[in-house]
Order: sequence, then C-alpha cells, then structure tokens
Amino acid sequence: MPSIPTAPGTVPIEPAPAPPASGFRKIIHIDMDAFYASVEQRDDPALRGRPVAVGGSSARGVVAAASYEARRFGVRSAMPSTRAARLCPDLVFVPPRFEVYRTVSRQIHAIFRDYTALIEPLSLDEAYLDVTADDRGIGSATRIAERIRQRIRAETGLTASAGVSYNKFLAKLASDHNKPDGLCVIRPGEGAAFVARLPVARFHGVGPRGVERMAALGVATGADLRAIPLESLRTHFGAQADYLYRAARGIDLRQVEANRPRKSVGAERTFASDIGSGPALREALGEIVDIVWNRIEQAGVQGRTVTLKLRSADFHTLTRARSLPRAVADAGEFGQVGRDLLDALLPLRQPVRLMGLTLSALEVAAAPGDAAAAPGDAAPAGQGTLPF
Ligand SMILES: [Mg+2]
Repeated sequence: MPSIPTAPGTVPIEPAPAPPASGFRKIIHIDMDAFYASVEQRDDPALRGRPVAVGGSSARGVVAAASYEARRFGVRSAMPSTRAARLCPDLVFVPPRFEVYRTVSRQIHAIFRDYTALIEPLSLDEAYLDVTADDRGIGSATRIAERIRQRIRAETGLTASAGVSYNKFLAKLASDHNKPDGLCVIRPGEGAAFVARLPVARFHGVGPRGVERMAALGVATGADLRAIPLESLRTHFGAQADYLYRAARGIDLRQVEANRPRKSVGAERTFASDIGSGPALREALGEIVDIVWNRIEQAGVQGRTVTLKLRSADFHTLTRARSLPRAVADAGEFGQVGRDLLDALLPLRQPVRLMGLTLSALEVAAAPGDAAAAPGDAAPAGQGTLPF
C-alpha cells in the first residue's frame, strides 16, 4: 500500500493559543471537590456522610484532604493530624492511595483533551483549560464547562466545580465560588466588581503570610488592595506586586501554559527562634519532609535531586544537594537523604533561622500534561467570539 506523503505544514506543532477575535480568552478552571477524600468515600460506602481525613493520624501526620463533613469542624488540608483530631473527635483517618488518585487524574485529563489541547495542570485534580478556539464547535465556554462536569460525574462517579472567565485568576476564583459541584461564570466587565468584594485570602498566590502582611497595611478585600498604589505594592510584595496590582482589577496577563515544566517542589520554614542542636534540627526537618512530600504527591511528580538549605542567624545561606541515580521512591527515602545532608553539616557553627528542603530534576509521574497529548486539529481562526 503506498504511503501517503505528509504535506509540509501538517506536522503536529505545540498547541498555541488562537488569537481571540473578541479580545477576550475563554478560560475554564476545573477543580475536583475534596478530591482525595471524595475518592475514598466513593470507594468505601462506610465512609460516606462521615468526616474523613486522608493522611496519617500519627503525631507527625498531616491532613492531605478533608471531606466536607470534616471541614464543618474546621479540619483543613495541610493541618497537623493531631490538631484535626482535636477539632473533630469522630474524624476517620484514611491512608492516601495515590495510585487511585492518579488514575482518576488520567481519566479527567482524557475528558479535558476532548475539548482542548491547551491544558495546564495545577495538581492531580485541578487544571486550567483555554477553550477560546472551541475545537468541538460547542458554542459557549459555559456549555463546555457543563459538559466536562457531567462527563466527570458519569465517568468517575465524582463531582468537580468549574469556573469560567476570561483569565486564569478569575476562572480560579469562580470555581471556588460555588463549591462543591458548582459552576460560576465571570463575564467580561464583571471581573473587577467580583474581585472587589472578596477577601484577599481567596486570591491564588496569597498565602497566610501574605494575608498577614496585607492586614498590616489595612488590606482585607480586593477593594482595599485596589486602593494601594503600585509603588507601595512593590515595596511590600516585591516580585508579586504587579500580579497583585492587576488581580485587584480583575486583570491577569498569564497564558494557559500547556505542559509547563515544573522545575522543583519544596518548602522552607523560618523558626520562631533560632535552632542549633542536632536533634531539634532533625525534628524540624521531619516536619518539612512531610509537607514537601505531600506537595510532591499532589503535583504527581517524581524527582532525583534533594537539596537542603539552611540559613544561619547572620543570614549566611548553606545549600547541600544529592542526586540519586533514579527517582526518590517515597517519603522515607526523601527524609533519609535530607537527614544525611543535614548530618554531614553537623555540628553547626551558628544556629539557623530557616530550613528548606526541595526535590528537583523532576519528571511528571502521572499522565496529566502528557507530552504525547495530541494537539488536535488546528483550530479555525476567528472563532474567538465564542460566547461565555
Ligand atoms: Mg480540588
């Protein structure tokens, strides 16, 4: 059989955003509801309706995800398990099953790919989709989001919330707005007013320390943030200032970046008082290991290089790294490499004020964001007028 010659120009290319004729992009943020906890309740009927925390219950354990029943008691992800158990005495702890979560993640990504090739995963259960080109000719971004939600429910037995808007910042706020099992649309022209009412703690990228620093400036809501001049934001928030300045106005210039390579996953901690003794440093390291490993699991990545960072009381920074010939296998090995790096530095000449641990040389362990994802047929130009 004669082979069909491939015409130049039909070679699959990296998905590139089609220019929006309307000037607005159509972005959907999809976020599974209480993901790990919902998977556990789906697979074990005895857990349904009960407060569930995915994570270890030991003294060093951290809650990776909490069911909505547990959240009513104030249980949150990243909370120490001991504190969660105090808040909710009937809390059921379930060990995580990341293989199952990765399988569900692959299922939802397969659904996403039916609607767009422009998918940017944030974690196993969250992603931005740019549907400006409307590859399937569905006619509205809101309708695409509803179809995706229906299919996720039908194909996985789980619920997802969706936010639809004209940039990533607003789409993520929107998906959070009607959780669980909700849909929220922020149309062009509505972004600034939506943002003005919100507490800044809801802004993506503003963590507990950012909230504290804003409170010190008298900033509690988007409207408060909008009143702060750019120069002042730059003084207080450095590199994040421009993002915050735009966010307060409902503007976000970031594109949906398909297959964005993540370089590292890590965490660092500044101590309330400087630490110098070996046992105290090892204990602090153990806590950081748990936090970082939780993030690694959520990101669905594997990596070979472990880097320990210590900053002494006089702001001198030491880093030590070790690369394994293959990916770090589990939290135990990650912690062991970290401890070996620490032990090689002991005894310290100076106590330290900050400790950090990072995993790098990453590969994506799960299929989400799979580089082999078909970019799909080139979107016809001029479909940027897709209604919301
Ligand atoms: Mg989620």
